[in-house]
Order: sequence, then C-alpha cells, then structure tokens
Amino acid sequence: MDVVVTRPFREITGNVRVTFTPDLPTDHLVFRLWPNGPAQRDAGEHLDAGPVKEDGRELHVLRPNPTTLQVELGRMLAPGSHVTVQLPWRLTLGRSHIDRNARFRGGLRLGTFFPLLSWDPRRGWLTDPASRLYAETAATPAADFDLRVRAPAGLRVLATGDNAGPRHFRAHAVRDLAVAVGPFRVESARVGRVTVRVAALAGNRGRHAVVSIATHALRALSARFGAYPWRSYTLVLPPDLPPSGIEYPMLTYIGSSRYARLIVDHETAHQWFYSLVGNDQARDPWLDETLATWSQTRLGSREPPPNGRVPKSVQRHVGAPVSYWEARGGWYYFGVYGEGVSALRSLGDAAAVDCALRHYVALRAYSIAHPGDLLDELNRFIPGAERRLRAWGIHR
Ligand SMILES: [Zn+2]
Repeated sequence: MDVVVTRPFREITGNVRVTFTPDLPTDHLVFRLWPNGPAQRDAGEHLDAGPVKEDGRELHVLRPNPTTLQVELGRMLAPGSHVTVQLPWRLTLGRSHIDRNARFRGGLRLGTFFPLLSWDPRRGWLTDPASRLYAETAATPAADFDLRVRAPAGLRVLATGDNAGPRHFRAHAVRDLAVAVGPFRVESARVGRVTVRVAALAGNRGRHAVVSIATHALRALSARFGAYPWRSYTLVLPPDLPPSGIEYPMLTYIGSSRYARLIVDHETAHQWFYSLVGNDQARDPWLDETLATWSQTRLGSREPPPNGRVPKSVQRHVGAPVSYWEARGGWYYFGVYGEGVSALRSLGDAAAVDCALRHYVALRAYSIAHPGDLLDELNRFIPGAERRLRAWGIHR
C-alpha cells in the first residue's frame, strides 16, 4: 500500500492492492471504511474509496451503509483460490477529536484508516454495525503488509511494521496498520530481540518513563502469555491525545497522563489480546478488553472501579456486544473491563486463568477467536469455568 501525507494534514491519499484467499466460497469482497462511522462523520472525517479494479477491469460495488463497501466479483471464488484487486482511497480528517484519526500541530496519527477486509475464516464476511462509542468494532484477518509512506521532508514517519528502507515498512501477520507523522524524537531500547521505540515531540518529559514501563510490560507479558512475536514495538505519544491509549498491531498511541503505567500496561497487553489473537470487536468486545484489563491487573495496575451506583443492566453483562453498550455510554468501561476482571477473578485461581490464556494465545494466534475458544481453555484448567461465567453474562 502507498500512503501520501501532505501539509496541512487534512487529506491523505493512498492506493491499496490486496490479494485475498478465502476459506469458504464467496462471490464478493467486503471492505470496511471505519472513518465513516457516525462519531467520526460528526467530526468531519470521511473515507472515499474506489474504483475497485481487477486486472484493470472495474468491478461493480454496493454501498449498503457508509462503513461498508461490497465488491461484486462476478464469479464464485473457491476456498484456497485467490483474487487480487486494487483501489485508491482518500481520507479527509475533520476537527481534532479523541478518536483514531486526528491531526495535531505539525503532524497526524492514523489507524484503521483505509479500506480493510472484514473476513473471519470461520464465519465469512463480518458486517457488524459501526458504533457511536469510542470503542473498536473492527475485525480483520491477519495479513502481510508492504507499506510506503510519502510525507513532507524533515518529519519522522512511524508505522506498524519493520523498517525496510526510508519510509518503507513491512509487517507480517498483522490485522491493521497505524501511521504517525510529525516532528517526533525517538528513543529506543531492547527486550531480547525486540526493539522498543518511543516517539514524542521535543519537550515531552513522559518519554523516558514510557520506555521503562513498556520494556517492563513487554518482558512480563511475554513471560506470562508467550513471546511477543514481532521484531519491533513502537509507542507514539501524540500531543493531542487525552489520557487514554489506542492499540494497533506493533504500534500503540499513548495519551499523556499520570496513569501512564496503567495505560501502557493495558495497551501493551492488547498486543496479545486483539493484535495476535484477534476477535470480532463489535460482537465480542470482552475478548480483547477484559483480557487486556486482566493483564494490567496481573502487572500490578487496577481495573476500572464503578463510577457511582451500578445499574442492574450494567451488572454481569460482560459478554454483551458494543451495540448493547451504545445506550449505556460510559458504563461500557466498567461493564466489560471492570466486571470482566471480576468474572475471571471469581474463578478463584488467577494462575490457572493465566495458564488458560497462555494456551488460548498459542492455539488462536493470528486468528479471529470466538468466545467458545477461550471458554474451552478456561474449562481445561478450571473445571466448571464456563458454567460459573454464565452468571457474568459470558456465553459461547
Ligand atoms: Zn483496551
């Protein structure tokens, strides 16, 4: 994929060429255009894509809703065969907001920003609705990416992947790309064979602390859940991001906060739960958010406490989809992150839960996991775990 970034960082253009191999027969492709979600549109963000071409021939497309681009192939694609299509895209950034794509003085940060295939090898195309919540609803298969970025001279480009040349990145078996451009200064450290990079603007005093927290988290999580499988891990501290974090494969955005340790621990845990073991983030947000929050507690940070009296509809709904939380706004974080940790803790043996998670990672790495996959591993180490978790709203 090629990405072109120009000042004043309002429009980004690109071209993606993708080869897709289905596991089930299909006669179409589904790309998701997540910058066209309702919250993003309200902020003035917009992603245009097309025309879609195969060998120079334009393919018919359908647009059932703003976040979905369906491409008709005009023939049935058999499992194991492949198709290659190419499409240009143009992303317009709106006013600055806390979501995934934003510009700031002198640069920008992007993630889930271009047309992404939404294939689950066991279920086919995923067409989950977009959400108004600042919660991820994407599910994408792991893929190999070759990314070239053109950006104004003098700026630093950081992206998912390993450096393959100037502003050229290669990433293996990742499900999304993040790209940050700006006058960043980079500090790095090593954890075994992994290079940890932390990028921040000059004068950001949080950078050194983030290097040390991130290297500790990467080492501790590798020991607990299996080795971090890529060669680099990059943390970008964009100046516009409030106290929060956003995770992408091999790259995490960290907002400035006095809770840096908690945020870095949580987002780094997403490298195992979301990045390595994927999930349908719209249908099963607990699979990555509960497990990342569980991991942060195992590294010594707390889970989110309830913010006031907890309504009945929030208690014990850990397994509910993002659409359920849409009407319950801010309770999502307690209902899935906080209650999820309480649910796992109720099994009574934290070391056995970790052991089940380690197996889950080994068995489901690079795939899109379903709730039953995690329950199978919990049952293996904690007899009756699935039955006990039903009381928390967790089902296969
Ligand atoms: Zn998270």
